[in-house]
Amino acid sequence: MIFGKKRVKKEQRLVTWENKSIALHRLYEIYDSYIAETLKPVCGPGCAVCCTRNVILTTLEGRGIMAFLARSKQLELLSKVAGQAHGKRFIPRLTTNALVRLFANSGEAPEEMLDPDWGPCPLLDQGRCRIYPARPFGCRCLLSTVRCAPSGFAEIDEFTITLNQVFLQTIEHLDRDGYTANLTDMLLYLAASENPESLPEQPDQAAQQMTANTAIPLLLVPPEHRLRIQPVLEDINRICVQGHHVWTLR
Ligand code: SF4
Ligand code: SF4
Repeated sequence: MIFGKKRVKKEQRLVTWENKSIALHRLYEIYDSYIAETLKPVCGPGCAVCCTRNVILTTLEGRGIMAFLARSKQLELLSKVAGQAHGKRFIPRLTTNALVRLFANSGEAPEEMLDPDWGPCPLLDQGRCRIYPARPFGCRCLLSTVRCAPSGFAEIDEFTITLNQVFLQTIEHLDRDGYTANLTDMLLYLAASENPESLPEQPDQAAQQMTANTAIPLLLVPPEHRLRIQPVLEDINRICVQGHHVWTLR
């Protein structure tokens, strides 16, 4: 595996959730615009083989889902999430940036359990995502140029994998005061934190399944993609919230 020498230099750190959320949505827009140019995914509403219990996300994205559930009057979905919380699911032990740091130091990734057969995402309802406009990046970047249903596998080109890696690292960096967790644990943690009486699971139990986010150590960009990724990094660097630039990716 080859690592880019590019890293983040001094930049304005966003503190409030509202400002981070603005930056996150700008990232989503940039990502969508590049995907529209470079890939022709067949993904769309109702296609949901990829919607498993193994989705992971950051605290920032989890708070966005909580806000969406409240806005769309769907907070009752949290009971469904809690009701299925006994089921097996992927629990990340390392975040994306922590894994990159490990690889950069020639470490080996720990073995992690992940099986799509553990069941569908608790937010999936009759093949539709109940929070589609607020779905996390882990769902947005699950794309394929062929329908997954026949073979059970997605098809995606190498550059999109690099693009996904850059955005995953950048989102974690934006939320580097927060955590990464499975969607179930994150939503239960946030719900119990804000309204401890609403759900059976207490914040400290869910918090055990969460891992702390970190800043980007370096961007994982293979040499053959370094030139092509430059305009993407420049677009990300142009994101400005409250008069401050948020990233200086190089
Ligand atoms: S990744 Fe596969 S299952 Fe998921 S929406 Fe795209 S085609 Fe459908
Ligand atoms: S949050 Fe929505 S898009 Fe993501 S896995 Fe669940 S149902 Fe699918």
